[in-house]
Amino acid sequence: MLIVVSLILVTMALSAVMLLVLSSLRGSGVRGIHEWFAANAMAVVSLPLFAARGALPDLLTVEVANILLLGTTATMLAGFRRHLQLRVPARRLAGYIGLGLLLVLALHHGVDSMGGRVVAMSLLHAAMCFEMGMLLRPRLQHAERRYPVLFTVYATVGNAAIQLVRALLYGAHMAGAPIPWDDTIVSMTFFSIGALALPALTLGAVMMATADLIARAQHAANHDHLTGARSRRAFFELAGREQSRAERRGSPLSLLLFDVDHFKRINDTHGHATGDLVLVDIVRRTGAVVRSIDIVARLGGEEFAVLLPDTGADTALLVAERLRHGLDRAADRTGYTVSIGAATLHHGESIDAMLSRADAALYAAKAGGRNAVVDARCMPLVTV
Ligand code: GH3
Ligand code: MG
Ligand code: MG
Repeated sequence: MLIVVSLILVTMALSAVMLLVLSSLRGSGVRGIHEWFAANAMAVVSLPLFAARGALPDLLTVEVANILLLGTTATMLAGFRRHLQLRVPARRLAGYIGLGLLLVLALHHGVDSMGGRVVAMSLLHAAMCFEMGMLLRPRLQHAERRYPVLFTVYATVGNAAIQLVRALLYGAHMAGAPIPWDDTIVSMTFFSIGALALPALTLGAVMMATADLIARAQHAANHDHLTGARSRRAFFELAGREQSRAERRGSPLSLLLFDVDHFKRINDTHGHATGDLVLVDIVRRTGAVVRSIDIVARLGGEEFAVLLPDTGADTALLVAERLRHGLDRAADRTGYTVSIGAATLHHGESIDAMLSRADAALYAAKAGGRNAVVDARCMPLVTV
């Protein structure tokens, strides 16, 4: 009994630690945190009730303790569903708990059978853990970081399997089948593994939440908040990679640099908010013109870049013309056009140098009257 109490206290302590960890993630906006927190809080309350068997009324140490523990697993399941942006099936979860309550009452006040209660509770926990595992398994393919999901799938399905074996062993024992091991060792083994189940599930949940936060931070750093285009930072990182690839393979790499004509007028005439909508519209239209492997970035203000891998100067000019045409919205109420400078990477040239040539071509397009494409090859040679 002393070992059982110690194990319960250790599990309680682990759940309390998990509460502290989850607290640090509250307010992060990650879905599921509140449910996972509530589940661990329920465990901290229910576990000492099991340990107080004999010292407190049976209603607390049997009915309330078992139902709170079932509620813990059900709430973890709700948390995982919420995290995956799935509907929380409140009725089904209440069904698990309602069924659990009926079984506990029947196996306490009908036939008082501790073994029967173990079988019933283990089966219900197993069903919910299995549901969690099946929920997460398909996410393995899409997860940018597989490890947190993989860990959680193993923790949920492993726990379901252990609960199932526990139910089978107790069921067989009740039916009179001899258990080949010492009874206490078997029950202690299951108890120890069971003690680790909730902390393991919560650890998986915390890992998934952290992966979510990292993915969000990376997305925020690599994308422009307003338009969703790549950020300046991401542009230079990706452009560096493309430049190395182009040099290695000897494949061409082109760049279109474009700037909205008289954008200040749009802001002045229609307001800054309309100007913002125009920028969003530009990125959407640009995405429709270029290929998915092309990199569309907002370099700043109303200046954008499109990096075209495996694209030579002549093709780049065709794409530039198509883009200029697609972005010629002069007939719209908030009419706008763009000027484009096009450059193709020279052998051994840096991205910055190519960008300078595209910039000079863009400047020439502006100077020449705007709504035009200028090829950097037509510019007088400058030494940088
Ligand atoms: P040009 O044809 O020579 O490019 O003329 P322009 O008016 O487009 O150029 P200018 O650089 O004088 O003006 C750019 C304007 O873009 C000024 C700035 O307030 C506006 N701008 C920069 N970023 C944003 C933004 O995020 N939203 C909005 N609405 N306006 C922006
Ligand atoms: Mg402009
Ligand atoms: Mg500008």
